[in-house]
Amino acid sequence: MTRGGAAPAAAAPAVAPEGGDRFDRQVGLPGLGAHQQRLLRGATVVVAGVGGVGGAAATYCAAAGVGHLVLLHPGDLEAPDLNRQTLMTPADVGGSRVRTAARTLGRHFPDVRVTALDVPMADAVVPGLLERADVVVDARHNFPERYLLNRLCRRAGVPSVVAAMDGVALQLLTSQAPGPCWRCVFPRADPHWEPLGFRVLGAVAGTAGCLAAAEAVKLLTGAGSVLAGRLLCGDLWEMSFRTVRVRAVPGCPDCGSR
Ligand SMILES: [Zn+2]
Repeated sequence: MTRGGAAPAAAAPAVAPEGGDRFDRQVGLPGLGAHQQRLLRGATVVVAGVGGVGGAAATYCAAAGVGHLVLLHPGDLEAPDLNRQTLMTPADVGGSRVRTAARTLGRHFPDVRVTALDVPMADAVVPGLLERADVVVDARHNFPERYLLNRLCRRAGVPSVVAAMDGVALQLLTSQAPGPCWRCVFPRADPHWEPLGFRVLGAVAGTAGCLAAAEAVKLLTGAGSVLAGRLLCGDLWEMSFRTVRVRAVPGCPDCGSR
């Protein structure tokens, strides 16, 4: 696959894996029946970033039965990534992150179609991908790409789950019109943010990714209550979690809420 080309990692078989339906233990959860399981199978989720956060989000979206995952992430795996990667091994260092993640997901979940794109968020293919998605998980690690995805998702009318972490802290917001978007809550980039220098504990990144996957499943099925209009803030060193009510900002340049 050339840079920017789509790489279906696995074709989705028409039948359930042998040994019974792998969703038996989740169908029957409140709001999640056979119909909702079919909605998941027919859904496309874009996961922007397959680092510690996005890798976990992609894993648990696939585990839940999302039929098509589109993974976006530019660049190759480096050894310091491995404190938070469960889809990649030391043998994968130097190879494409996104293609490695797609290969591993294809082995674990052969009934899920995975498309891997080794492209930056500013690539020309991204807006069209977002328009065809049912949910977007934003797991990027820098403000310019978050703002770009935020704006593109609102234009496309697709809900996004923004999952962020720094050190031992995490934040989660589900952005869905007419509720507040990420820029309504964070109107300006942190001038001190160093996208390649912040500390990462793998368990914190993985927790943020799992929370994002749960939000994606709820958005796709209508089960439960999503985090729209609420920002979840967690500190895993203190093991404290709280939600803060947030509002759409009139005149927000990204969502234009009024
Ligand atoms: Zn906004």
